[in-house]
Amino acid sequence: MTSGAADEADRLGELAGRLAQVRARITAGCEAAGRPADDVTLIAITKTFPASDVALLASLGVTDFGENRDQEAAPKAAAAAALGACPRWHFVGQLQVNKAASVVRYADVVHSVDKLRLVRALGSRAAGVRRQIGCLIQVNLDPDAVDAARGSGDAGRGGAGRGGALPADVLELADAVAAQDGLLLGGVMAVAPLGLPPGPAFRSLRRIAESVRAAHPGATMISAGMSGDLDEAIAEGATHVRVGTALLGGRPPFVR
Ligand SMILES: *Cc1c(COP(=O)(O)O)cnc(C)c1O
Repeated sequence: MTSGAADEADRLGELAGRLAQVRARITAGCEAAGRPADDVTLIAITKTFPASDVALLASLGVTDFGENRDQEAAPKAAAAAALGACPRWHFVGQLQVNKAASVVRYADVVHSVDKLRLVRALGSRAAGVRRQIGCLIQVNLDPDAVDAARGSGDAGRGGAGRGGALPADVLELADAVAAQDGLLLGGVMAVAPLGLPPGPAFRSLRRIAESVRAAHPGATMISAGMSGDLDEAIAEGATHVRVGTALLGGRPPFVR
């Protein structure tokens, strides 16, 4: 074996071990919640990791991958395809309107839809390349953002920081997605607010998801839970967990 092949075999073994642990957590979470284990889809978040890791995880049966920056995701999706890995790609990061044209070329689902402008840009770009892009409305669950918008009287075009629409604006965005050719309303997504227990945040996300589903029965996805809090998310109905560190290992600091 060349040293490259030996390194790759080591990495495959490491990823297989971590994947087994994450899958065991998902299974245990589903069991505790009385849900079937195949209720929850694992999305491997590969930001900062190479396309070769995508190919290795795909060979281990991972079907869904996510990235949070277009500059990194676009070439990585192409490089993974060149290695024979053509998984479902999820875009999970804050998205600038001017990146919509690039993202609709490789992404199957965008988790971070939080502005009407973005809905329109994604819809027209998706229609332009004749693709149907799944969209999740990202919800800002940070209580400070909700208070700030209330105080300012601004109907809240999303809070600062990690992005997301205010809960009060979610239904309007969901209606807008559902009305756009080229887009399919999948459901909702959130990141638990920093420094607070995740359970109550995921519980409010679940209620918001239910109100969206009441208006749009096909919108069944709840994207919630990362390496640190996927257990709490599954307890509150998450259908998609986005896992980076627990699967791939630590990232360099300051990369979100
Ligand atoms: C990086 C990232 C994740 C994965 O985070 P980990 O803590 O490494 O599992 C999930 N969701 C989003 C939006 C991310 O940016």
